[in-house]
Amino acid sequence: MDTIRAVINLKALQHNFQVLQKTAPQSQIIAVIKANAYGHGMVKVAQKLQHVHAFAVARLSEALILRSAGIKHPIILLGGFFKDGDLATLSAADLQCVVHSQEQVAAIMQAKLPNPLKIWLKLDTGMHRLGFHPEQFDAVYKRLEGSINVQKPINFLTHFHSAEEVNNNATAQQLSLFKQYIQAGSGLKSLANSAAVFAWPETHFDAVRPGIALYGISPFADRLAKDLQLRPVMTLKSSLIAIRDHKARESVGYGAHWTAQNDTQLGVVAMGYGDGYPRLAPEGTPVLVNGRIVPIVGRISMDMLTIDLGLMNQDKVGDDVTLWGEGLPAEIVAQKIGTIAYELVTKLTSRVTLHYQ
Ligand code: PLP
Repeated sequence: MDTIRAVINLKALQHNFQVLQKTAPQSQIIAVIKANAYGHGMVKVAQKLQHVHAFAVARLSEALILRSAGIKHPIILLGGFFKDGDLATLSAADLQCVVHSQEQVAAIMQAKLPNPLKIWLKLDTGMHRLGFHPEQFDAVYKRLEGSINVQKPINFLTHFHSAEEVNNNATAQQLSLFKQYIQAGSGLKSLANSAAVFAWPETHFDAVRPGIALYGISPFADRLAKDLQLRPVMTLKSSLIAIRDHKARESVGYGAHWTAQNDTQLGVVAMGYGDGYPRLAPEGTPVLVNGRIVPIVGRISMDMLTIDLGLMNQDKVGDDVTLWGEGLPAEIVAQKIGTIAYELVTKLTSRVTLHYQ
């Protein structure tokens, strides 16, 4: 077994899928598995989620990896632009794409394709990142409706910017804009990310698009995954590679910023920013060792970090250390570091091997 490993619990993934399905019982699920399924391994995750309506990825390259691995489900490309040949590739690999820009519309109108494209027309209801402004929407829709290159009916989507803020009226406003502009057509309608699946049932429509909740991580700042009945899928583990007696007033690590108040024992863990653990993790960021939460002390190095084990004398070299996951929610670690758990799980480097169980 590798010292550094992300243990991926596929049963927990399946469980989270079922929780999402129960929470949005009338809707199909589009599983968002971009960025290597948020670091969990895109192909393995796709193979496990047999009952989804579709998978969503960000890039054409991701969709082609799924097709090469034999994934037959519908696959939706959430973003991007078409370079020469992309449309033919989309059509040949039976990939669906989100259409969000005039440049894409022009490319679709001019293309010569073997099969019409299955598209999701994106309305910008307030995210102001991708999508058509409501005033342009109807004209774009009519153009695409009239194109032989587009399969009918056209599907529709929008994306929320603050669905995790349950008291923020912006989500209701985005929903209302969507309802106002998306009347025509009988295509599928999809709005909800993970937060909206739990907090905004009125946004569920035909298909919901959860990402983070599938992986057992809460999208809310004030609710943990277990409060939503979700189970963590990834547990990031490493081992103690040294245990050192450490005297009061001695420092540890680069810059010698942290010094011990009292005599203690320090543990050295094989995990650093070269593995994707954030270098900016402050002193006090929790890790889990032998059932106790103990703090990181000193700076994170490339291959190591140091923790204050205290004087319990319970730990030995080779013992497991959990950086996040089962027993230590990634949300809590992320909050301490000043980031979001999405970033933690997607940023692991190739030095961390994924172990499926
Ligand atoms: N839909 C779109 C368009 C997205 O970009 C994302 C993620 O960034 C999602 C759905 C899934 O969001 P979440 O992981 O918060 O559920």
